[in-house]
Amino acid sequence: MTLKPQDFEHVNHVWDDTVANQLDAVERLRYRSNLLGSDQRITNTGGGNTSSKIKMTDPLSGEEVDVLWVKGSGGDLRTSTRANFASLYMDKFLSLENIYNRAEVKGVKTEIEDAMVEMYRHTTFGLNPAASSIDTPLHGLIPFRHVDHMHPIAAIAIAASQDQEALTHEVFGDEVGWVPWQRPGFDLGLVMRDALKVTPNLKGLIMGQHGLINWADDDRVCYELTLTLVEKAARFIEHMDKGARTFGGQKYAALDSQTRDELLVKLLPKMRGLVSQANRFIGTVHLTDRVLEFVNSVDAPRLAEIGTSCPDHFLRTKIKPLYVDWDPQHESESVLLEKLESGLAQYRADYTAYYEACKRPDSPAMRDPNPTVILIPGLGLIAWGKTKSESRVTAEFYSLAIEVMRASEAISAYQGLPRQEAFDIEYWALEEAKLRRMPPEKELARHVVVVIGAGSGIGKATAFRVAQEGAHVVCADLSEEAAQQTAQELIKRYGLGIGVAGTGISGCGSAIGLKVDITNRASVQALLKQVVLAYGALDDVIVTAGVFVPPDKNGQIPDEKWSLTYAINVMGGYIVADEARRIWQAQGLKGSLVLTTSVNAAVAKHGSVAYDTSKAAANHLVRELAIELSPLVRVNGLAPATVVEGSSMFPRERVISSLHKYHVPFADDESTEALREKLANFYAQRTLTKAPVTLADQAEVAYLLISNKFSKTTGQIISVDGGLHEAFLR
Ligand SMILES: [Zn+2]
Repeated sequence: MTLKPQDFEHVNHVWDDTVANQLDAVERLRYRSNLLGSDQRITNTGGGNTSSKIKMTDPLSGEEVDVLWVKGSGGDLRTSTRANFASLYMDKFLSLENIYNRAEVKGVKTEIEDAMVEMYRHTTFGLNPAASSIDTPLHGLIPFRHVDHMHPIAAIAIAASQDQEALTHEVFGDEVGWVPWQRPGFDLGLVMRDALKVTPNLKGLIMGQHGLINWADDDRVCYELTLTLVEKAARFIEHMDKGARTFGGQKYAALDSQTRDELLVKLLPKMRGLVSQANRFIGTVHLTDRVLEFVNSVDAPRLAEIGTSCPDHFLRTKIKPLYVDWDPQHESESVLLEKLESGLAQYRADYTAYYEACKRPDSPAMRDPNPTVILIPGLGLIAWGKTKSESRVTAEFYSLAIEVMRASEAISAYQGLPRQEAFDIEYWALEEAKLRRMPPEKELARHVVVVIGAGSGIGKATAFRVAQEGAHVVCADLSEEAAQQTAQELIKRYGLGIGVAGTGISGCGSAIGLKVDITNRASVQALLKQVVLAYGALDDVIVTAGVFVPPDKNGQIPDEKWSLTYAINVMGGYIVADEARRIWQAQGLKGSLVLTTSVNAAVAKHGSVAYDTSKAAANHLVRELAIELSPLVRVNGLAPATVVEGSSMFPRERVISSLHKYHVPFADDESTEALREKLANFYAQRTLTKAPVTLADQAEVAYLLISNKFSKTTGQIISVDGGLHEAFLR
């Protein structure tokens, strides 16, 4: 069967010569990689690699040499740039075979095989710092100019079927060969080269339990070959689709979306608490129709137990997911919770048994035995990872594994990686070394911090400060636009991460912007529901929202302004604490709350009676809440004074009226910022430290109060006022 690109139905041919022909050879490889990586049917996030052998001038000799450019370790094809590709002198790389052959013991999983990875660095061309991956020999030892190694769903479906070799022949005829599962490394490269020696006409290979590799001497031809092979496999699978009998048919029905979301909002904090006993995790909810078809099916428990097939998937999804056999139509929420708890206990026991049975004398210590993927009929798939990006990747990988199982069960019978092989990947010394090379986690890593008032001033500065410490930040504000602006600035600074999964708000990055009116309980409830669906729950809440109502010309504050001041500055903080309490209690993990009060709480003076008394009440609210929320949640107050810089509480009129009041000279045409600076400097002179109090000063203390550095402090008010002796608390 010859297939033309215009006939493709299961992949999109998007190569554009007018783009490619303007690029140099390395950029053409980057271009090809981005195209392949942008289609989940062709490869998964972070999965697969591509290469080109390119003639370049050697900076040392001035002679033309062959250079292998191959996607390096880490990174992702979809988002790769030139910097993600390693470059190796081909002749030096090929000479490494001598070193390999000199080893007394060689072959898959031998010492020399792992040692080869370090040797690649000696062959680097052009001082390129990109680290070569363990898949480098798959590219370097294949004697064609361009090689694509992908993890296409359709190809893995064949590779993860019980009769994979026969199926390979049936689907591809003589043009694609088959090699059995083998952990990637130098030996696998040799095995592939040997297969090609035996059958020189081969255009590619199905790699057992793993994926597809194919090659050509022209890059566009290689790209089109990849697409053609995926298309062929996908067509074969499509013809054998089981329709309503897929996964043995449906056992349960999906819940309507409203019931489902309500249940998830109750369940997720509990679930996060249960899986986070050793380490906190961030959740991603993934609820597509195809995921639901799987979790609701007759075969789901059997297939879930077999585990994921592709080694690339399972490093994140773990050997298998936790499937909770709950009947969404006939069983109650409390039964679901019981089954979740007993399921988790069983999972941890299974994982420990797997570790004990498969470990070797030099294996690294057992890692966190909790599942990273939880499947629940009626609800869908919930993934857990150390960051939002990680949990999105995990959700993506298991949803791809579901597609592999769907296809494999249509054409044959699905089989997983043998347990020992899975273990030897999971606890591979090279993987362990990668983990050890990672920088230590930041203070607020794995935390979800809700900052209310994040649209401007102290709240915005605080959102940035906690994000810098690794927190996932919910930027909430009365102004939705301002909240989203802060979140977008954070995403721009820290990136969206990788992984293509998550339904609705759960597909978010490490920051989101949401509207909230803290004087309205329903609005606070709506905010926290979104937070739970986005991240699984929350850890810390910082309220910086507040209002200052200046007296009118007669020095009066109207009654309704009194009510508003108390509604925002006192009751608002209480409502937030009261609603977050449900989540904290369900989750059972330590958390922290910071309310922003004011030094005015302790200093009586003219002209701000509503504000000052409300802040005095807020100070005492901190103490009351510290008692109410103990021992789970620490509650502290941050009492700023006169932060004029960028504050929405100091609009131009207030600044001018203050300058008047203190007889500070100014001109009417001065900018608001210049006037604010004058006022800030005036205030500074009244303090013991004689320096203006900045937003950064406030944000620092807000961050410190929620951090572990203040883990033994609760019920306290910390003034950040430059030192005002009138405001000393006694
Ligand atoms: Zn691979």
